[in-house]
Amino acid sequence: MIKARNIHKSYGNLEVLKGVDIHIKAGEVVSIVGESGAGKSTLLQILGTLDTPSNPQKYDTEIFLNDQPFIYMSDKQISKFRNQNIGFVFQFHQLLPEFTALENVLLPTKIAGANEKEMLEKAYDLFEDLKIAQRIHHKPNQLSGGEAQRVAVARALINSPKIIYADEPTGNLDSKNADDLHRLFFDLRDKYNQTFVIVTHNPQLAEITDRKLVMKDGLIIE
Ligand code: ADP
Ligand code: ADP
Repeated sequence: MIKARNIHKSYGNLEVLKGVDIHIKAGEVVSIVGESGAGKSTLLQILGTLDTPSNPQKYDTEIFLNDQPFIYMSDKQISKFRNQNIGFVFQFHQLLPEFTALENVLLPTKIAGANEKEMLEKAYDLFEDLKIAQRIHHKPNQLSGGEAQRVAVARALINSPKIIYADEPTGNLDSKNADDLHRLFFDLRDKYNQTFVIVTHNPQLAEITDRKLVMKDGLIIE
């Protein structure tokens, strides 16, 4: 699913990633842990096409998603590629407050220009799967933290991405809601073979993932 080597990233003189290699298989749920400042978010942003590696030619950097290299794509190509292949979940749900849960989930399908009726059916299925069907027409401020986060997961899933990157998805949830969200990730993996890469400080989550990668000072050390 993901094959990457020699990822470097610097901000000015600060070398944040120092040559990261990472492989992720389809259907894996992988966690990335490590101290604050280790480079976890930066790595996720680069793998997720939201940021670019520094000096890829110099370092012979390669990143493939399903055998497709993407670091040299144009901005226009990369937006399309991201929309079709990658889903994101962040610590804060980042739902648009003026739209309902359903409208928020359907937004990525408008950008992709997908078939409206099919996407509406898919959205209803996801709201069922994620046990938020009774919240479908609520606005974000009418949802609990756990519900809002599940809507964010539905939004990440609506275009059937190959991979979902989650950055501290349970960082803002209490332990009950965090457990529910963990279970959800594994249910989605079992049902759709959905691949997840999750940056987390949550030790329970890190322990139950298929693989735990430990980052330190810009490298995966374990
Ligand atoms: P982690 O997710 O492991 O906490 P990050 O990837 O967020 O680590 O950050 C790694 C280092 O890079 C930190 O020192 C952070 O301050 C720095 N950093 C991250 N993004 C930027 C940026 N846009 N500009 C400058 N420094 C940044
Ligand atoms: P994390 O929870 O991973 O530690 P941070 O709070 O370090 O995240 O960073 C949050 C966002 O702020 C990141 O997207 C990163 O790009 C940006 N950022 C972090 N450090 C800096 C910095 N020193 N200068 C500019 N942007 C930064």
